[in-house]
Amino acid sequence: MAQPYYSVRNSKIHGKGVFAKRPIRKGIRVIEYTGPVISMKEADKIGNTVDENGHGHTMFFTVDEKRVIDGNRGGDAKWINHSCAANCEAIQDGDQVFIESLRAIKTGEEITYDYNLVIEEKITEAVRKEFECFCGSPNCRHSQIDKRILAKQARKDKLKAAKKKAKAEKKQLKAEMKKAKAEAKAKAKAQEKSKAKVESKKNKKAKKDKKGGKKSKKKNKK
Ligand SMILES: [Zn+2]
Repeated sequence: MAQPYYSVRNSKIHGKGVFAKRPIRKGIRVIEYTGPVISMKEADKIGNTVDENGHGHTMFFTVDEKRVIDGNRGGDAKWINHSCAANCEAIQDGDQVFIESLRAIKTGEEITYDYNLVIEEKITEAVRKEFECFCGSPNCRHSQIDKRILAKQARKDKLKAAKKKAKAEKKQLKAEMKKAKAEAKAKAKAQEKSKAKVESKKNKKAKKDKKGGKKSKKKNKK
């Protein structure tokens, strides 16, 4: 029997990893992603293990919309790490999945493939952290989640931020208008008050004059 292509040991990327034990040519099925095929529902029940740092260990491979391969009960392929600059890709052949080399791989190189994870739930900070990428490649997208899903989420986030900004601006405008209205009202009130003051002064003066007039009248009568 031929020597296997790989061995499993600790990885710099994340947890355990799979490494080339000998040179691998391009287009070689290095390893099969094995394990029982189970339903998505069952997989959800099992869930991903998340370590103390919030990083997840994905041990499932999606076969179709309803089924996954449970790598937890499978072979060594479950240890293969994600990379944004992977040297392998996952090839599906019916219900079977093979990790195939995209290029020649040297002995000792870590075997990787792009997980292109499809996340149905909302991509929260916790989800982002769970599927964070540490591949260290120059083009690392810092996530194991499929680019298209990330792009979609980014568009949604942008729209949400714009809506939030517009709402805040509207609120501010409303507050400014309210303030201006209140100020105008206060000014009007103050003006009315001072007008009333002037008027009452005038009235007092008029009364005084009237009184004085009466007096003088009286005087005149004498
Ligand atoms: Zn990466």
